[in-house]
Amino acid sequence: MKEWVSVLRAADAAARWHAHQRRKGIAQEPYINHLLEVASLVTEATGGSDPDLVIAALLHDADEDQEVPIQLIIREFGKRVADIVVEVTDDKALPKDERKRKQIETAPKKSREAKLIKLADKTSNLRTIAFSPAADWSVKRRLEYVAWATEVVAGLRGTSPWLEGQFEEAADRAIKSLEPPMASV
Ligand code: ZN
Repeated sequence: MKEWVSVLRAADAAARWHAHQRRKGIAQEPYINHLLEVASLVTEATGGSDPDLVIAALLHDADEDQEVPIQLIIREFGKRVADIVVEVTDDKALPKDERKRKQIETAPKKSREAKLIKLADKTSNLRTIAFSPAADWSVKRRLEYVAWATEVVAGLRGTSPWLEGQFEEAADRAIKSLEPPMASV
């Protein structure tokens, strides 16, 4: 099958699987916006050279958020895609703090494909903090999220200078969105 046909099948599957899920921010964007943003970032970072990576990016939250069985992903999109998805899926049996600590610790050991998706995912999440933060997230919580994401990304460096630049820009904007406006004189 032509590769772009598979990419569109994955986008269609992701839209169905996350149909009733929305981003936590005040804009309540449909979740597919996040998945398309992450897929688009990894596509640009790699010049569109790896369709499996793009498919895995579209499906990166399918198991974690919608409990889509990995077997189904293997059957529909192949083992390589499924392996990447598994690599970027948190173990939900662990408490939240432990999962966050584990992300920092395991980041440097991930494959290049998983690192690219994680970089794009964190970039998308920080962009959301700047333009559509969750209503119940205090300033402290937002700052803590930026600091944690920056720590995870420290372990992903050396993967794509362009994508790392996108992350830094998003982190800058997230922090600036929490600062008082510049004095006019
Ligand atoms: Zn995500």
